[in-house]
Amino acid sequence: MQVVGNELALKWGDGEEQFVVLDELRRACPCAVCVGEIDVLGQMHKSPSSQLNNTSFQINRLQLVGGYAIQVFWGDGHSTGLYSFDLLRKMHSAG
Ligand SMILES: [Zn+2]
Repeated sequence: MQVVGNELALKWGDGEEQFVVLDELRRACPCAVCVGEIDVLGQMHKSPSSQLNNTSFQINRLQLVGGYAIQVFWGDGHSTGLYSFDLLRKMHSAG
């Protein structure tokens, strides 16, 4: 996996390549801050700190987690989202 321009290039075990636009990737961040948390009354709470700016769509670093997910360290310091391979494969491929 590597960042190419504004896309993340992924190569899967079966040889298939996938390109995910960073903008889309960030917006699909599965962490509790970005997705929001649902309280006991079923109401959705979103943290105001999840506001995005242009560094939010830049990747500083990528790290493989446990062989099933990728942790992305974004330019704005956000890094709590773990993108499972399953989630990534379901994402729209720009390629
Ligand atoms: Zn997030």
